Amino acid sequence: MNSTIADRLHEVQARMAMIARRCGRRPEEIQLVAVGKTHRAEAIEAAMAAGATIIGENYVQEARDKFAALSHRPAAWHFIGHLQTNKAKYAVRLFELIHTVDSLKLAEELNRQAGKAGKIQRVLIQVNTGGEKSKSGVTAEQAPALARELSGLEHLKVEGLMAIPPYFNDPEASRPHFAALRELRDRIAALAIPGIEMQALSMGMTGDFEAAIEEGATLVRIGSAIFGARA
Ligand SMILES: *Cc1c(COP(=O)(O)O)cnc(C)c1O
Repeated sequence: MNSTIADRLHEVQARMAMIARRCGRRPEEIQLVAVGKTHRAEAIEAAMAAGATIIGENYVQEARDKFAALSHRPAAWHFIGHLQTNKAKYAVRLFELIHTVDSLKLAEELNRQAGKAGKIQRVLIQVNTGGEKSKSGVTAEQAPALARELSGLEHLKVEGLMAIPPYFNDPEASRPHFAALRELRDRIAALAIPGIEMQALSMGMTGDFEAAIEEGATLVRIGSAIFGARA
């Protein structure tokens, strides 16, 4: 009842490791992105103090404020929200990995800003596996072509794919989306596009990370199970 952020983080980490072992994977293959959106810097700091090493944020301005408040704590910040091209400059300054590249236009601007900053920006391609109008991401059909287009951008490092499946009450309903993302990742990897790595799979949230790990997730993005419900 009175569990703390530290308790809940450790519980999530333990569950992740248990699920990984149970399906024959090494726990180190799966990284936890602690999703802090809407939660205060103090809450993020509690998670960091308890061992969270990757913080996921959805909004650039919110992340800038927290990043400034928590700059004394080493952590990797990941961007997992919809990124507008006019925020690319700030995103490149703040984030080690941007999970949500879904157009050539955005990628070109990130590439330009990364070049100016003297940085190689790590990114994932977001795929809209459910074909939902309300969600960003390219279709599975478009993803290989976008990967080819990104291969020419020398300040970007494409590392894999990300998806947010449609919301279901039944976590098993996400599984086909996770499996489809993994198959798509393997298909793009087989194209051996120069400069494109296809290892990472960012998928799984509080409600469905078990199925995501079983289907091959390398990054799970978990908010409510650590920080509690969002207001
Ligand atoms: C909010 C959010 C999460 C975390 O969701 P929870 O259900 O709270 O774990 C993960 N990924 C994305 C893209 C999000 O926006």
